[in-house]
Amino acid sequence: MEVRHYNIPVFIPEIACPHRCVFCNQETITGIHKAPKAEEVKSLVMSYLSTINRKNTEIKIAFFGGSFTGLPIEIQEDYLKSIQPLIVGNITGIRISTRPDYINFEGLQILKKYHVSNIELGAQSMDDEVLRLSGRGHDHKKVLQAAELIKSQGFQLGLQMMIGLPGDSFEKAMETARLIVNAGADETRIYPTLVIKDTVLEQRWLKGSYQPLTLEEAVRQSSELYKYFEKNKIKILRVGLYPSEELVDNSGFLAGPFHNSFKELVMSEIWKDILKEIEPKTDKIILKVPVKEFNFANGYKKSNWHFLKSKFLSVKFIADTQLKNREFHVDYL
Ligand code: SF4
Repeated sequence: MEVRHYNIPVFIPEIACPHRCVFCNQETITGIHKAPKAEEVKSLVMSYLSTINRKNTEIKIAFFGGSFTGLPIEIQEDYLKSIQPLIVGNITGIRISTRPDYINFEGLQILKKYHVSNIELGAQSMDDEVLRLSGRGHDHKKVLQAAELIKSQGFQLGLQMMIGLPGDSFEKAMETARLIVNAGADETRIYPTLVIKDTVLEQRWLKGSYQPLTLEEAVRQSSELYKYFEKNKIKILRVGLYPSEELVDNSGFLAGPFHNSFKELVMSEIWKDILKEIEPKTDKIILKVPVKEFNFANGYKKSNWHFLKSKFLSVKFIADTQLKNREFHVDYL
């Protein structure tokens, strides 16, 4: 039976990060305004655990929303110590996210001692001009050095990237993906840049010196990146931002390619690229697709079905248990 993977998120916005990347307002992005105290984390995790069926699962406790290793060592240890009794059975480890310039050998030994298994670095871009314009405060070499150290110490490495950053382009995004693969990443996330309230990017957008990607372009770029990572066996943990309340109700979100079903749009686009190659040999077709891919093949709001209907009189999708990945079969009627 297939093992399901869960991350139990513990958001620690801002407290861990003295930086101000031009796009970042962690409170709005995570929807969490105050980091929990170390003594609160255990009960937070326990209450989350009570909501999931733990059969056939592998669970990790994940500190997100800030730069974990930017915290003073004592606070890192307090957080990590508080959940040590929970790391048993199918709760197999801890995941943290941080910045590349907050990684050093000594810090990694502490993380190891407390069962941290996965370290995710916000690489964002491997282009130094994009990093500079985004106010990241590090260059791409720093990302590569940190990645090498993390791998050498036996952690699973995640390298997150963003698209549509100031000065960015599709070519630069693909080069970032190539370097992420070469750096030996096990996992990645693809985040489109959004204009969030109370950020430097908001000012630039208001002045007209920054334009976010359109939703269409962000979906297009993400679909190419997704295919590239998939081909290189990198696990893609997320495409698109987690929709916090402030993003969903628009109170913190000003502009950019945000969509509640961003991943679905990306997967539909990948299928569209496949389906547009089908030759119009007859008027009617039946398309057999893998069960898991049925909705994506049909497309978001049946977009791919509508697309095919412009070429065929009759189009029917059928889920086929024999097919896997993105295999498909066309019956011409
Ligand atoms: S380093 Fe991360 S948490 Fe800190 S400001 Fe930049 S994006 Fe936000």
